[in-house]
Amino acid sequence: MTIGDDAAAALYGNRFLTQPAPATRFPDVGMSPVEAMRLVGEDLAMEGDPQRNLATFVTTWMEPEAQRIIAENLHRNFIDHAEYPISAEIEQRCVRMLADLFHAPGATAGCRTQGSSEAIMLGALSLKWKWRERRTAAGEPVDRPNLVFGGDVHVVWEKFCRYFDVEPRIIPLAENKYTIGPDDVEAHLDENTIGVVAVLGTTFTGHMDDVVGINELLLRVKQERSLDIPLHVDAASGGFVWPFLYPESAWDFRLEQVRSINVSGHKYGLVYPGIGWLVFRTESDLAKDLVFYENYLGKTDATFTLNFSTGASMVLAQYYNFVRLGRQGYTYVMMQMQENARALALHLEKSGRFEVIGSDLEQLPLVAFRLARAQAYDESDIAWQLSAERGWMVPAYTLPPNAQHVKILRALVKETLSREQVERLARDVDDACTTLDQKGGAHEKERQQVKQGTGY
Ligand SMILES: *Cc1c(COP(=O)(O)O)cnc(C)c1O
Repeated sequence: MTIGDDAAAALYGNRFLTQPAPATRFPDVGMSPVEAMRLVGEDLAMEGDPQRNLATFVTTWMEPEAQRIIAENLHRNFIDHAEYPISAEIEQRCVRMLADLFHAPGATAGCRTQGSSEAIMLGALSLKWKWRERRTAAGEPVDRPNLVFGGDVHVVWEKFCRYFDVEPRIIPLAENKYTIGPDDVEAHLDENTIGVVAVLGTTFTGHMDDVVGINELLLRVKQERSLDIPLHVDAASGGFVWPFLYPESAWDFRLEQVRSINVSGHKYGLVYPGIGWLVFRTESDLAKDLVFYENYLGKTDATFTLNFSTGASMVLAQYYNFVRLGRQGYTYVMMQMQENARALALHLEKSGRFEVIGSDLEQLPLVAFRLARAQAYDESDIAWQLSAERGWMVPAYTLPPNAQHVKILRALVKETLSREQVERLARDVDDACTTLDQKGGAHEKERQQVKQGTGY
């Protein structure tokens, strides 16, 4: 018998273990289900463990009952509204619940999306179309639309501008200024501004733009210059945090110029990827031209999406979370994460090595921190050492212009990061720094480049 013996391989299985994984050509012949399953499994074994991934905002754990709903509905195509009207109704229940959570004044329009990225593309397209309607009605040209936002936004906003031919007017950040407010926005507004974007819970430090101030500015501009510029809130992360941790803080439809909001169900909505939501203030904030009607599936249906077919599971899982947790449950989970984030922040500050960024402000449950003093190593070295020693994935990154010389480490403190793990992480960070104190950093070249920008 040899390892290449087909009969023996068929009997004992696992032929893939002695061969490279098919990777370039479409395979001529297949393999048994067990072999295929094990091949994929062995490949993934070398990948990061989601439980130790403190880089992602996206949900890495759901209850077994929710997992069961997901698993039992994987064969249900959400877009088949005629065949699966209950799934469609459950989506609309979620939209109505979100509109209520975000203080919409009355009937709204909204939909599920693949994530905030799709919600943002659709929301921003509606801004562009509504602007064009206003301009056309006034007999004004429609060839130079622009969109105003800060450097603290997610990359999807620049993507939108490039994909859909809108001029981005990006407000730069600065050292110790990682969000934007009305004074930054005002100079960029004109009759071609399709909207202003404010972020609730930035990707970089977890803080919010001054939505209240920007709303007041837009109200003043409406009165003084007769320009009715809508405000879109990118609440991808913050939309499920602020209503529960900071219910008195106004950022949503309580503010008159806020016309649309996106939120990621798969972030603090606590659902696995991919689900997001787009909610308009009123039905008339959705540009009617963007809604398409078809009857392929036997019944006339209106669609407002960039994708068509997609699973219903995550919509059902979102509804499960809403009814399972309610306001009280979400508040409990958010407070638990916040308490653990504060415990981690305290440990890091007490070590004397780190400065924690903006933990006294309204913030997502995360810890953004940087070295308090220049060392022989930097934040990237710490991230690398932490991963090498313990498998923690804590990203180090530079902030957007003009704060690009600021390097930050960021740890998301999610539902499954227990106090025990928080304390272990704090010790592991300390151990990683002790190792680096002795051996120096591994990223000398990169550090020199960063240092040249700062002079620190
Ligand atoms: C994550 C995020 C996005 C993109 O959302 P996805 O749900 O990943 O598509 C957009 N904006 C902000 C502020 C985000 O945090």
